[in-house]
Amino acid sequence: MPNTPQGIDFYHTGYCRHPECIACRGGSLRPISFPAMAAHIHADGGMLFDTGYAEYFKTATAHFPEKLYALTTPVVFNQPSLKQQLGDKADTISKIFLSHLHADHIAGLKDFPEIEIICSKKAFDFAKNKQSRFAKLRKGFLPSLLPDDFEQRIQFIEDFQQINLPPDMRPFQTGYKLANGIIAIELAGHAMGHFGILTENVFLIADAAWQIENITEKREPHLLSSLVMDNYAQFRQTLKNLQILSQHNQDLLIIPTHCEKTLSKLWTNK
Ligand SMILES: [Zn+2]
Repeated sequence: MPNTPQGIDFYHTGYCRHPECIACRGGSLRPISFPAMAAHIHADGGMLFDTGYAEYFKTATAHFPEKLYALTTPVVFNQPSLKQQLGDKADTISKIFLSHLHADHIAGLKDFPEIEIICSKKAFDFAKNKQSRFAKLRKGFLPSLLPDDFEQRIQFIEDFQQINLPPDMRPFQTGYKLANGIIAIELAGHAMGHFGILTENVFLIADAAWQIENITEKREPHLLSSLVMDNYAQFRQTLKNLQILSQHNQDLLIIPTHCEKTLSKLWTNK
């Protein structure tokens, strides 16, 4: 197991519970916690990786059809907001990276006004298309969580310099250099425009896997999980690539956003 990463803080922003077997085949029916992690990457002026759950989630799901989200995925907040947890460090953050636009990754966004936002153009286009609220809800997206000036603050991942990744990142070949030491890598399938971040020996993979065993033990999520995926075939291919990567690159710390087992050793605030 690689060392605990320096230069990144990991924050617990709340959790939901689902049966273990949904996230990992062969798991039990016992409900387990799926924390929503947000990370503070210190490199290059300070960047947030997602914003996790926040009170705005409750407002956004107060009415139908969005209420269906809260009913099917009961969320528990038992800690201060990410902004409060960051304290003085919040002032040092110059950019917010969004791995994708699902509610559990963007709910805290309104607590960080005026800060530049980086996300993929594909995710942005989906957010802005003319589909109904219900169609968007089915894809885990709650438009009201986006700040009004979202469009003015956005920078697209795809507009950054595309670079070749070092050979030890195989089978992943290219990424986008967001800043010195921070590279965005596409992890297609889970959601439209789903990206992770590579920084030093840490690969934040967002929801490309839910449990680390999806990768280390090659246990895929339950087929039911395909209902919430943007493209299940792509998700499986990405997962396969992560399995290959983790086998040959033992120095890399792969961190799924919702894996309690991985994160329990890393929380900054617990
Ligand atoms: Zn998620």
